[in-house]
Amino acid sequence: MELPRLVVVGSGVALEAADVCRDLKLKGSSLIVTGPKTSEMVGEEISQRMEDRGFETSLMITKFSKLEEVERAERLAAEIDAGFLIGVGGGRSIDVAKLASVRAGVHFVSIPTAASHDGICSAQASLTIDGETTSVSAQAPLGIIADTAIISTAPERLLAAGCGDIISNYTAIRDWKLAHRLRGEEYSEYASALSEMTARMIVETAPDLKPGLEESARVVVKALISSGVAMSIAGSSRPASGSEHKFAHAINKIDPGRALHGELCGLGTIVMMYLHGGDWKMIRTALKEVGAPTSAAEIGLDDQAVIEALTIAHTIRPERYTILGSGLTREAATAAAKKTKII
Ligand SMILES: [Zn+2]
Repeated sequence: MELPRLVVVGSGVALEAADVCRDLKLKGSSLIVTGPKTSEMVGEEISQRMEDRGFETSLMITKFSKLEEVERAERLAAEIDAGFLIGVGGGRSIDVAKLASVRAGVHFVSIPTAASHDGICSAQASLTIDGETTSVSAQAPLGIIADTAIISTAPERLLAAGCGDIISNYTAIRDWKLAHRLRGEEYSEYASALSEMTARMIVETAPDLKPGLEESARVVVKALISSGVAMSIAGSSRPASGSEHKFAHAINKIDPGRALHGELCGLGTIVMMYLHGGDWKMIRTALKEVGAPTSAAEIGLDDQAVIEALTIAHTIRPERYTILGSGLTREAATAAAKKTKII
């Protein structure tokens, strides 16, 4: 199991990144990968404070999670002989830093600025290759520094999306159990229980989760980290990614960039829970409570795209067996989407 060694959650902790790096016994210079806006907001300040505390630091600004950017980060890391990489951002910067750190053979520290998906703490990185989002296995961060003062100022849509990504554990677990029973796939009770408990916690606290509140940011980011730990225990994304993620990826194929990852996962969870014969209304209610979309129309997604995505979702990562089996017929897909009020 590859787990983070140090997880620091609190108000203002990003500015103490240097202390965390010291506690982690990280040595040498550091390369901070961050986005243009994030750099202005917090990246430069973190970099300055690292310098003040004796870490030589370089800043790389990235806009895309593309292979070329990973290669650029790897080159920069080699140039400055980086002892470790830090990703500061909502997703892209963290993905780039995470993957580049593996390629450079050094450790990686994650400083998320939003709680929008579990990539902030997982060993997987999401990369855009030829216009398609692909999940690439990388490494789990050695340290996670989740500053609730920063995360709580992220746009409210991001927090809701994060909840969608966590709630999707419900169907991911059901798919995993199914694959275990039908295909003899390796299964971990611990990973499964942790993942499910994390999702249940978010569903139960959903009415109290409010954007802009540090306490809400804390609850969601901790849940994302728990999901990440569940994946680390399993050694794969299985506990947090099943048929609902296939649906989200299928939508991204048909209508790229239409919605956030967690928003699509949330929509997918409603339908997949229905297909599993579970309590899809409970999922729908919780998503509504956190302000996440529960219908295609809310995110400007075409009904036909939803039906199409449901019929092709099983072809994405086909080795990962789920409730989608060998695919839904158009009629079944339409019926499921209508019944669950997705369309
Ligand atoms: Zn996800």
